[in-house]
Amino acid sequence: MAEKKNIVTIDGPSGAGKSTISKLLAARLRYTYLDTGAMYRMVGLQVLRDGLDFEVQGAREKLALLLAALDMTLAPGEEGKETRAFLNGEDVSDAIRTPEMAMVASRVSAQAEVRKKLTEMQRTIGNNGAIVAEGRDMGTVVFPDAMHKFFLDASPMERAKRRQKQLAENGRKIEYQELLTQIQKRDADDSNRALAPLKPAEDAVIVDSSEMSIEEVVSFMLAAINDKQK
Ligand code: C5P
Repeated sequence: MAEKKNIVTIDGPSGAGKSTISKLLAARLRYTYLDTGAMYRMVGLQVLRDGLDFEVQGAREKLALLLAALDMTLAPGEEGKETRAFLNGEDVSDAIRTPEMAMVASRVSAQAEVRKKLTEMQRTIGNNGAIVAEGRDMGTVVFPDAMHKFFLDASPMERAKRRQKQLAENGRKIEYQELLTQIQKRDADDSNRALAPLKPAEDAVIVDSSEMSIEEVVSFMLAAINDKQK
């Protein structure tokens, strides 16, 4: 059996609290935090900027060129803030984190070429271990040999509520019902796609955070990690 790497994977649907929890966990473990959603969102932004339409003939070639030229960098956010994301040197951290960009990211993430490229990049980042990797397919596809795997879930209603609060803090008012519909659509698309669908790895610990505070989730995960390392 391959030796397991000291990698922590946190997968789960949108709005379950993955980013907040992963960041805190990484800080406590002194690991690097890897926000793979930001990578898919940046590809989505580049696809939009290039006006690439997957339905049109010749799109495959254009996508291959786009991916070959992709210049993405991630940098740790300030305390309590999301990872900073740079596309061709431009800070696109805010531009990629809108509900509209989430839908675009979900659409581009179903493309095989995109997944292949980002999986390679993510494995390179995780090569030396000591990372907390957050996404949809971290435990199932990208890091199947990770030492600690979690699947963080919460009810769609709770997730829509949390997303609404988070957006309001950033000055955007969006109806609860609209967010709930978006969340349900994105979950269904992410779960039903042929490639790397959203699902728990067989050896993942499933954590339902609907009734848990952030601190409770982090403590639970740290205890599970410590237990396994004994
Ligand atoms: O996590 P976040 O909401 O930023 O992800 C945006 C979208 O990127 C997801 O809805 C999903 O379609 C895609 N994604 C993915 N695999 C990952 C991370 C994100 O397919 N590992």
